[in-house]
Amino acid sequence: MDLYEYQGKQYFARFGIPTSPGGVADTVDEAVARADEVGYPVVVKAQVKVGGRGKAGGIKLAADAEEVRRHASAILGMDIKGHTVQRLWIEHASDIEREYYVSFTLDRRAKKYLCMVSAQGGVDIEEVAATDPDAIARLHVDPLDGLSAASAAEVVARAGLDDAAREQAATLVQRLYNCYVEGDCDLAEINPLILTTDGRVHALDAKVTLDDNAAFRHPEWEEFAGTETTDERERLAKEKGLQYVGLDGFVGIIANGAGLAMSTCDVVQQVGGQPANFLDIGGGANADQMANALEVINADPKVRSIFVNIFGGITRGEEVANGIVQALARVDISAPIVVRLDGTNAEEGRAILAAQVGDRVVSVPTMIDAARKATELAGGTVR
Ligand code: GDP
Ligand code: MN
Repeated sequence: MDLYEYQGKQYFARFGIPTSPGGVADTVDEAVARADEVGYPVVVKAQVKVGGRGKAGGIKLAADAEEVRRHASAILGMDIKGHTVQRLWIEHASDIEREYYVSFTLDRRAKKYLCMVSAQGGVDIEEVAATDPDAIARLHVDPLDGLSAASAAEVVARAGLDDAAREQAATLVQRLYNCYVEGDCDLAEINPLILTTDGRVHALDAKVTLDDNAAFRHPEWEEFAGTETTDERERLAKEKGLQYVGLDGFVGIIANGAGLAMSTCDVVQQVGGQPANFLDIGGGANADQMANALEVINADPKVRSIFVNIFGGITRGEEVANGIVQALARVDISAPIVVRLDGTNAEEGRAILAAQVGDRVVSVPTMIDAARKATELAGGTVR
């Protein structure tokens, strides 16, 4: 899960990483109120989960309330790379002496954490990496060893940060490491990290990606998830505990097992259809799971047919078929349904479907033919 800048800064604060005082605002009046609180001059910053907000006009300095009002009304509602600005972060403006870069990520190939520090901050780090790779000091950190104060100081020195910034920057690198490890981040990036004209080092921006697999040990992450504006379909699926990813097509897909669900998407695409989603209902494929899955897919207005692709393993064909029958009794489905049931006791399962819901379900024994049928019923061109 990616955090907004203001959330990233709040997260940094828990680990003692200094930032400028500020507050969030969803309206122009709120922006002025926040600016009055933190003191002028302020920076009005668009909160969207993409970089390059500055260049896009989403970050403006304001000397007084009147300027805050003007910038806030211009930035709220602005489109930045396809993201509409709904929230602002207003912070006390800093006087910048120098802009640096610091980040922690995981280097999967090295099986270590990777710390990057550069004296060339404030600009696109990918650009620095391409044009002047030596300007980025890299340090691999073995998770078992951790990051020592000496190593933090060394990487900061190697990056060529100004003398006045070194000690504070080294401490900050250690704190960012704690944030990255204890805070279970996939990415913790500060660009720019600044040295102010009065000699203080702090984070002017925050880019934090939390590791969703660690959510179980962070109940406090709930507050971040609440502001996530996800796909309405994905929100409903999550509520029902389904593994669902919304796609753009018109053939709704239900399969048991992530691998089969992915293959189902591929096969539908291969025969000329377009999958509306990825949906894995898990191994059991019981009536409850099936009903929930059908409900989620039914709520998608783009779906014109539904392809249920189940391979009976431990769950036998009859159980799967009974699940589908019960689910259909509970959910009022508008789109035609194609079922491909295979595996353990598939014949018995198909017989149950034919007898009980034969008028509402087309049973097709192979995956490719079922994909063709579903595409055809959706009005697509089969190839
Ligand atoms: P990004 O463009 O999305 O990466 O947004 P940043 O938060 O990194 O801001 C972009 C640039 O705006 C920074 O590199 C600074 O040059 C400038 N900026 C942001 N905050 C301040 C501030 O408090 N004072 C000054 N003088 N410039 C700022
Ligand atoms: Mn930035």
